[in-house]
Amino acid sequence: MSTVAGVHPIPFLIGGEWIQDKSSFITHINPATGEVNYEICAGTEAHIDLAVRTAHKAASQPAWRNMLPHNRAQILNKIADLMLERSDLLARCQMLENGKVWKECKNQVINGAATFRFCAAAIETLGSEITPPRGNYLSMTVYEPWGVVAAITPWNSPITLTCNKIAAALAAGNGIVLKPASFTPTSGIELGRIALDAGVPPGVLNVVPGAGSKIGDALVTHPLVRMVSFTGGTEVGRRISELCGKKIIPAVLELGGKSPHIIFADANLKAAADAATVAIFEGTGQSCTAGSRLFVERKVYDEMIAMIIERARALRVDLPDAPGAQLGPSASFSQREYIEKMVEGARKEGAEILIGGARPTERHLAKGAFYLPTIVAGITNKSPIAQQEIFGPVLCAMPFDNEDDLIQQANDTMFGLASGIWTADYKRAWRVARALEAGMVWINTYKQFSTAAPFGGFKESGLGREKGLQGIRTYQQVKTMFWSMSDTFDGGFSIAK
Ligand code: NAP
Repeated sequence: MSTVAGVHPIPFLIGGEWIQDKSSFITHINPATGEVNYEICAGTEAHIDLAVRTAHKAASQPAWRNMLPHNRAQILNKIADLMLERSDLLARCQMLENGKVWKECKNQVINGAATFRFCAAAIETLGSEITPPRGNYLSMTVYEPWGVVAAITPWNSPITLTCNKIAAALAAGNGIVLKPASFTPTSGIELGRIALDAGVPPGVLNVVPGAGSKIGDALVTHPLVRMVSFTGGTEVGRRISELCGKKIIPAVLELGGKSPHIIFADANLKAAADAATVAIFEGTGQSCTAGSRLFVERKVYDEMIAMIIERARALRVDLPDAPGAQLGPSASFSQREYIEKMVEGARKEGAEILIGGARPTERHLAKGAFYLPTIVAGITNKSPIAQQEIFGPVLCAMPFDNEDDLIQQANDTMFGLASGIWTADYKRAWRVARALEAGMVWINTYKQFSTAAPFGGFKESGLGREKGLQGIRTYQQVKTMFWSMSDTFDGGFSIAK
């Protein structure tokens, strides 16, 4: 079995073959240490063309396309088994590349394996449908794979996000070309190896790393790509959506967020303070669903902020593999630069930095892309720091006076991914939850996820849903059939005989 740094430069996967083309590669820098991790071969437009054609051929074979559901489920379950067997390797790939703390990386492997098991169970039970008869015929709806799916993933949680896509797309019977983020390519490569070892026919899942700016268009616009599943930033998502629009193929887009986390005065304030701290700082704030805009009812604002500061101060920022580490570095030095620029911009505009707003001073963290948990106050919801996604450990705190004012502010954003409400009043929770323009609402909790629950955004946070049964349907197209039960043709106008 390979190890993440076992072969140099690390090859990628097309048609079951390991491609070690040394003409172009990614030099990977560890964000926790600033040191080079390893080099990974990068695909070219020619590799993308080969991968798509290979996926098309493999996915068209009856052996894959018509595979019986229980056989497909067996392969998906085997992938889950192998993921758990190789969980250290997978977790290490992610930890070395984006600096997420070890425990979180391991959890992502466990949850990713559970996603494969869910899809295995679902594909055995998801049926076709008989639709109500409107005459002397049978009408039915069947679900078929799109063909080749282009799966494009970001760097913040590559294991989770890749599993969401490939488990459902394989369950639905597609071929796949996976393009992982350049900051985090190897967990996708290892998942490709696992799929092959689990019995996915060679060519059904291909993994081609490479700069999105160089090979992204070639993948999305390839005539044999019939669907694109993209998770990443809103700007790239918009471009992909435009390209897919021209081709008239569907694009599932899981994009950015600036999620409102709302605390009413009647809430369980201690639990809300715990949740508000985790909601923004877990994963070093590099989470699309991070509760990055905190709205607190004015009469408990000072008390709440004091509680969150106390909790943030106690968080342990450390090397990702240090026991007890809670926040690792930002995933890259350029990402930390962006965070610093945003916080400095707010400071210049008169914002108060209640805690953080700087790099840690511990010497052993000096070479990494670390940034302290930061709380920014004295801003309005219109401030750039409250409107733009930062994707770092930066919480924007704002008071509100009443429900109408709150809803107006919470919805005043281009995003609509997630949201959280804390209140003891269930009628208010219902009203506010229904009024929020967000694909996810957590009530008296935050960041709970289930592989069985659909996930996705409103507004510029995305289009379409992944996860749950709906998430498998996303990777299928619908075919309607009408079967006559008559010996004569009785449709339309009558034919003179
Ligand atoms: P990104 O810059 O949009 O990149 C995402 C992926 O797209 C990467 O693989 C990237 O490749 C590729 N890409 C870049 N340009 C492309 C192009 N022209 N055509 C095709 N692909 C292209 O996003 P990111 O910085 O990696 O990730 C952070 C963003 O993802 C945040 O906005 C976050 O909110 C969002 N996100 C959303 C969800 C969700 O489920 N809604 C989950 C996680 C993250 P390279 O790496 O080679 O540039």
